Amino acid sequence: MCPSEQRPITVDSTPGFYGIDHYGFPRVGADDPPDPEGYYPAYLGSERFQKYGYHVEELRGGFYWVTSAGYDAAFVVTGEGVVAIDAPPTLGENMLAAIEEVTEQPVTHVIYSHWHADHIGAASVYGPDVEIVAHRITRELLERFPDPKRPLPTLTFEDDHVLTVGGVELHLSYKGENHCPGNIFIHAPQQRVLTAVDILSPGSVTFMHCDASQNISGWYEAHSQILGYDFDFFVGGHHMHYGTYEQVKECVEYFADVLEGATAAVERFSRSDALVDILAATGPDRVFVGTENWINSMANHATRHVLEKRTGDGRLWWERLAGATTQTKYHAYTVLESIRLERARPDYRLRGTDPPPFQT
Ligand SMILES: [Zn+2]
Repeated sequence: MCPSEQRPITVDSTPGFYGIDHYGFPRVGADDPPDPEGYYPAYLGSERFQKYGYHVEELRGGFYWVTSAGYDAAFVVTGEGVVAIDAPPTLGENMLAAIEEVTEQPVTHVIYSHWHADHIGAASVYGPDVEIVAHRITRELLERFPDPKRPLPTLTFEDDHVLTVGGVELHLSYKGENHCPGNIFIHAPQQRVLTAVDILSPGSVTFMHCDASQNISGWYEAHSQILGYDFDFFVGGHHMHYGTYEQVKECVEYFADVLEGATAAVERFSRSDALVDILAATGPDRVFVGTENWINSMANHATRHVLEKRTGDGRLWWERLAGATTQTKYHAYTVLESIRLERARPDYRLRGTDPPPFQT
């Protein structure tokens, strides 16, 4: 009997929902609370945003933030040319439009935060005559997976590099793999702006699976590295806001709770009696179903921990950060898997102990 005969696929035919069925992810929305009050910024209603889909704003001293309300990037007007940071395709040529709004200077330098196409996939808009600065690993990845829209970096560095243009300093630093290999910190000490992409998204819990990050231990380490910088403005690559230091701390606090919940979940459900119970419930011929239940038990335990916890200021997370009710389960899953894979294991099987729960 094939699975579809066993249990019919229930495709949701409500207009606007495209085939959310029994085998995929559940539909959410109707019961979920709206995003916190004030999450949607005033610029969404501006004429420029309504007409062209971008917003540009000077943070301080010639450092500008540009956003498509989803993705953000930045540029610095130095007096001897413009330094652009990233080029998300959702902004594309609007990066040039934003720059031309505030200066007639040409773009002379481009910094790649990391190699991902969703943040630099429109970098070719800056033309062939710019110096492109990035980490060595970013260049290696772009050599290996070429993309004409992401021209190769022309200047790379290993640990630290200070880019000085027209008296403006940008301190670039690589502290090891976090979101992905080669992802760097970009600090403008004069303007007190820190750019670190795909780590934290002020005002929200960021996108699922810790923003699709690869090294979760390194990604968590980056939280404290970010808080170690002096900054008044934080540019994170997403979502609708730049952040203050306090807003960044709020995101760090949320992810500390995710780690706390995931740690408790792994401890509880990795006990062999709990694991055997869950696997036994679906029988010896459905080991992947049992595994799904085991992993989901841990993810749900951690999710409940985060969503039911009274936070530092007495509110629940979904009252403070957008996306908490929908994204937390994915973060919990990713973090608990990273605990199992990246951190020290509490025990290992001793010689001569019980056999595994199912034997063939
Ligand atoms: Zn990325």
